[in-house]
Amino acid sequence: MNILVINCGSSSLKFQLINAETEEVLAKGICERIGLDGSRIVYQPTGGEKESTESPMPDHTQAIRLVLESLTNEKTGAVRSLDEIGAVGHRLVHGGEKFASSTIITDEVIKAVEECNDLAPLHNPANLIGIAACQELMPHVPMVGVFDTAFHQTMPEKAFIYGLPYEYYKKYKVRRYGFHGTSHSYVSKRAAVLLGKPYDQVRTIVCHLGNGASVCAVKNGKSVDTSMGFTPLEGLIMGTRSGDIDPGIMEFIAEKENIDIYEVMDVLNQKSGVLGISEVSSDFRDLQVAALAGKEEAIRAMTIFAYHVAKYIGSYVAAMNGVDAIAFTAGIGENNRYVRNDICEYLGYLGIEIDQEKNSKAGEEIIITTPESKTAVMVIPTNEELVIARETFALVKQ
Ligand code: ADP
Repeated sequence: MNILVINCGSSSLKFQLINAETEEVLAKGICERIGLDGSRIVYQPTGGEKESTESPMPDHTQAIRLVLESLTNEKTGAVRSLDEIGAVGHRLVHGGEKFASSTIITDEVIKAVEECNDLAPLHNPANLIGIAACQELMPHVPMVGVFDTAFHQTMPEKAFIYGLPYEYYKKYKVRRYGFHGTSHSYVSKRAAVLLGKPYDQVRTIVCHLGNGASVCAVKNGKSVDTSMGFTPLEGLIMGTRSGDIDPGIMEFIAEKENIDIYEVMDVLNQKSGVLGISEVSSDFRDLQVAALAGKEEAIRAMTIFAYHVAKYIGSYVAAMNGVDAIAFTAGIGENNRYVRNDICEYLGYLGIEIDQEKNSKAGEEIIITTPESKTAVMVIPTNEELVIARETFALVKQ
């Protein structure tokens, strides 16, 4: 069965068509600038040429229409007709406390996701628009929702309750939810395979380091703590997001800069992180080039970033009373050996010895510690689309 995986944002839509039996990617692409001028679809069939076509996309339904046209195109399509798409798997950001696993999308599920819109006002409405667009164009194809938050629903209360009046949890469900769950789940499972141990007997710390970044403690197959919280703003210093700060800073900055809470939030989300610290870039490739050229601002941002990751790793070693594997993933974790090395320099107390030759590899699944190292450190390229396809297949084939 071929599964169409859709990751729908407010103005973009990423897609992959995956054969669920062979797990082969048949085609993939992205629609950009939906609802804006200059919208375009980039489409790449596996083994074929990447094509980029400008085409008006006033809404997501038109974007999906173009995706389906590309997939069934006579010359470059990956399938002959829509009948060859057996199901659609949607990435959904926030399932609140309602969804601890993936689910077949029904009217009740849509209603329940709508009820979580408050918790993810930027993401959930966009995800729902993607579902509606697919339902309109493929009314008889089953759809599955795979939630970023679901994997973390196993966290114990001590990890998810904040030091706030408990009534805010009861009234408004203010608590830690965590994100990147699909990635943390995939990578922690692969880590157990690389270690050659059963998943339910391994303690792994997954460092998902991309534009958005989070660390997760996975004990015996369950997420027991993670650095993102009520929103994806908490935790590590990220590309443009501040991560943890003293909440008192918000009032102080609002007064000094004469801005309101929304403007402060914009600063924390868009103008902070390594971009804010370095004033160079939010992108680690740019920072790396600048740092290697001796630019102090870039070195400072990367040093602070690595220190914070190392602190989180330390706290999760404490939370799990030890660790068997530390896994790096996502754009920075998979590709930037300098960042991995800087973080691991703090981890000598775990008996970690990095093999620099192995660490110099990029983008492949590999253990980068020496055989003598007491704790294994690995690089595991994440594959959220594959997880969504697998979960979708598992639910619809029943
Ligand atoms: P997201 O999915 O959260 O937007 P990514 O996982 O793509 O982010 O990560 C983006 C970050 O990863 C950027 O800082 C970028 O510099 C870095 N990155 C991505 N690919 C590479 C690469 N091939 N080499 C070095 N750094 C990379």
